[in-house]
Amino acid sequence: MSENSDLSRIRILDPATVNQIAAGEVVERPASVVKELVENAIDAGAGLITIDLTASKDAIMVIRVTDDGCGMSPADAGLAFAPHATSKIASIGDLNRLRTLGFRGEALATIAAVSRVTLVTKPRGSGAVIPGTRIVIEGGKVLTTAETGAPDGTSVLVEDLFFNTPARKKFQKSRNTELAHIHDILEGICLSYPGIAFHLSFNGTEQIVTDRTTHTLDTVARLFGSGVSRDLVPVEASLSFLSINGFISRPVLARKDRARMFVTVNQRFVSSPLINDAIKAGYGTLLPKDRFPVAFLNLTIDPMLVDVNVHPTKKQIRLSREKEITEMIRASVRNALLAHDLIPAAKPPEAGLAPVPGPSAAPFRSYDLSGVPAPAGVFESTHAGTVATDQRLRQTELPVGSGPAYLASSLLPEIVVIGEFGGIYILARTAGDDLLLIDQHAAHERILYEQVTGQTQETRPSQELISPVVLHRTPKEAAILRDLLPVLALEGFILEGFGGDAFVVRAVPVVLGRLEETTIIDEIISDLVSEEAAQTVSNRERIARIIACRGAIKAGTICTREQCQRIVDQLRRMKNPFTCPHGRPTMIRFTRKELDTMFKRV
Ligand code: ADP
Ligand code: MG
Repeated sequence: MSENSDLSRIRILDPATVNQIAAGEVVERPASVVKELVENAIDAGAGLITIDLTASKDAIMVIRVTDDGCGMSPADAGLAFAPHATSKIASIGDLNRLRTLGFRGEALATIAAVSRVTLVTKPRGSGAVIPGTRIVIEGGKVLTTAETGAPDGTSVLVEDLFFNTPARKKFQKSRNTELAHIHDILEGICLSYPGIAFHLSFNGTEQIVTDRTTHTLDTVARLFGSGVSRDLVPVEASLSFLSINGFISRPVLARKDRARMFVTVNQRFVSSPLINDAIKAGYGTLLPKDRFPVAFLNLTIDPMLVDVNVHPTKKQIRLSREKEITEMIRASVRNALLAHDLIPAAKPPEAGLAPVPGPSAAPFRSYDLSGVPAPAGVFESTHAGTVATDQRLRQTELPVGSGPAYLASSLLPEIVVIGEFGGIYILARTAGDDLLLIDQHAAHERILYEQVTGQTQETRPSQELISPVVLHRTPKEAAILRDLLPVLALEGFILEGFGGDAFVVRAVPVVLGRLEETTIIDEIISDLVSEEAAQTVSNRERIARIIACRGAIKAGTICTREQCQRIVDQLRRMKNPFTCPHGRPTMIRFTRKELDTMFKRV
């Protein structure tokens, strides 16, 4: 059995097959075709790019992308479909100074390999000197090439996508899913190139229309409505090799997914989990861990530090000096947030809401609070309760002068407590005309948290217990706890093994105070050993949050007005007074104007 066929099983694939295989990577779906064609139009210097889609009830049938860019000469038009034909780079070194989106020279070749393409193009400004060209190519084979009259620029029509790759065709999702992908891609592109006007139509109906603008916010408003831009704050920063500008959302706009995190690197829309994480990290405790901000950020990075040639669709990139870059992103996001007033406004009620008809027709009296000392609410608490609360509050009292100089530049305005509600909310007003509802537990939690995390090793956060406390745990909990002992010690918790699965607690963090009720220790340790699931933060961070939560005044504890005022005054010194460490708001604001609107006074 030594036939020739056995000796020569390897053969060089014909170019058409090679292109069909390559198409698998570059042209995954209709949205990839749109992406490649639109990017070519951008590279051609277009000012207006029109995308027309025609669909049957279950699939996108025709994609046409038209631009007013530089167009192609008849010779170039003939070459454009050849594999690895590009006008954008000459050698690999050019990648380091790439100014175009394309460079691989494979998009047109691969699209033409799996569909029927009609190209009509004419060089810009060539008048009658150079004719337009029309080329029809199907499954990689040129069917016709002809001179034609044409406007300046290029139009590429793609039909019968995947007609010769049935497997790929079968994997296409529903028409609406494909349409959603096209929207996603175009949104990213529109935001990367606000200077270009984009028109997308679907079966003749306009779906996206952006104007040429120099302001990203105009494009944001066009795409997502003007309401979004109201809750954005600007970000700007630059280093020698990196600059950042754009907008991020106030925490109120947070979403359950990352779909509204738009990042461009050197005007290329990218999806980088690394960069997204850095943005999210900038919010710190302003957002719960399963919420993501809205962000429109443009990064300009020295091209030497960015490798765009990682993936055929170029959506992923690789960064050198990754640590510095992500740290800078995190810091700029954080600074931008801190520089802006982040108290969420109370949502005005739905329009058309009728006033609630009360049983008694007597109207409430309206008070003009401005200038008049605020009347006190009802404060009733047992003496013992007041003493216990006082003890807790004293622990978080920052000595004036020694604390950070935040008070002078507090992020919160001056706040005067008016009363309390249900042992949960503090009612307060600002010197301006705002009414604040403050969550006393969340506020105190924030205060404790910043104290715990603000401590350095030298400030000796530990305080010995007069009588050590013994804790008994299950074997599993004991195992987790044993691993955590060194980290706990860093935070001021000194625990030692006490035989079997028991531990003795000798010292606790100073912020917990002279513990009257040692149950807090048990609570903290229980939280710590039980919460091991979904660990997205470091153990130190987790311990700090738990201490803050357990050490803080509980909801339901009635505080006196003085105590409420102390909480508020302490809160004003915080670096981030707006949320508790878990990202819940510490306060909600009703402006006078909002209240007037709610009461239909205006
Ligand atoms: P790449 O964009 O990586 O260079 P493509 O296969 O997408 O590769 O395009 C091949 C070449 O065809 C481009 O380099 C460019 O010269 C030309 N071309 C493609 N589309 C256009 C267009 N819309 N306008 C002008 N030239 C185009
Ligand atoms: Mg291209």
